[in-house]
Amino acid sequence: MSEELHRQKSIKRKAVIDAKIAKATEQRGVLILLKGNGKGKSSSAFGTMARSVGHGKHCAVVQFSKGRLETGEFKLFHRHPQIDWHVMGHGFTWETQDCARDIAAAEQAWQKAAELLADDSLDLIVLDEMSYMFKYDYLSVEPVVAALKARPRMQTVIITGRTMALGLQDIADTISVIQDERHAFRLGVKAQAGIEY
Ligand code: ATP
Ligand code: MG
Repeated sequence: MSEELHRQKSIKRKAVIDAKIAKATEQRGVLILLKGNGKGKSSSAFGTMARSVGHGKHCAVVQFSKGRLETGEFKLFHRHPQIDWHVMGHGFTWETQDCARDIAAAEQAWQKAAELLADDSLDLIVLDEMSYMFKYDYLSVEPVVAALKARPRMQTVIITGRTMALGLQDIADTISVIQDERHAFRLGVKAQAGIEY
């Protein structure tokens, strides 16, 4: 390609991008869903939270999975003055299969999340692994959709989990699917602090 042709193409491309930028004028919080079987959902959510905190914003987290308490992100963030961090109540009982207790724990975590969604001092809320609550029928999606719709205008919410409820997808602004193409675990690599948790 000649230099001149390349220059012309670049100008055209820039004009198209500038026109799109000029069209995006709305200022409001967004609902972001991070789903799929690949690695990178929770770490993306907490990466975004780090970005927000850097800008002086106030954030909250509700972790819906039992998981590990001592994740790197928990250790780094839970005492941060701009972050309100909640690990769900009594935790889940995957091992004992105590369904009633799991539902009670899910309800308790949702009560906390609902409180946060009504708080207009919060700029960003991460509902980590929340999607499983709908998959296992621990929570119904309708009240969650209603609370998300009624939340403060500038508040952004990120929900992670491998599968997403359709009701959430209907109202989301951004949906990213993290595809599982390969994972070190299947190559026999043990989970590592700072990488997996
Ligand atoms: P991360 O927290 O690393 O961003 P994630 O939130 O996308 O991961 P989860 O489904 O929440 O993924 O799983 C959390 C843990 O499982 C992490 O330690 C992650 O490395 C690991 N993991 C994620 N995807 C896979 C996979 N496809 N196979 C094996 N392990 C996985
Ligand atoms: Mg995760």
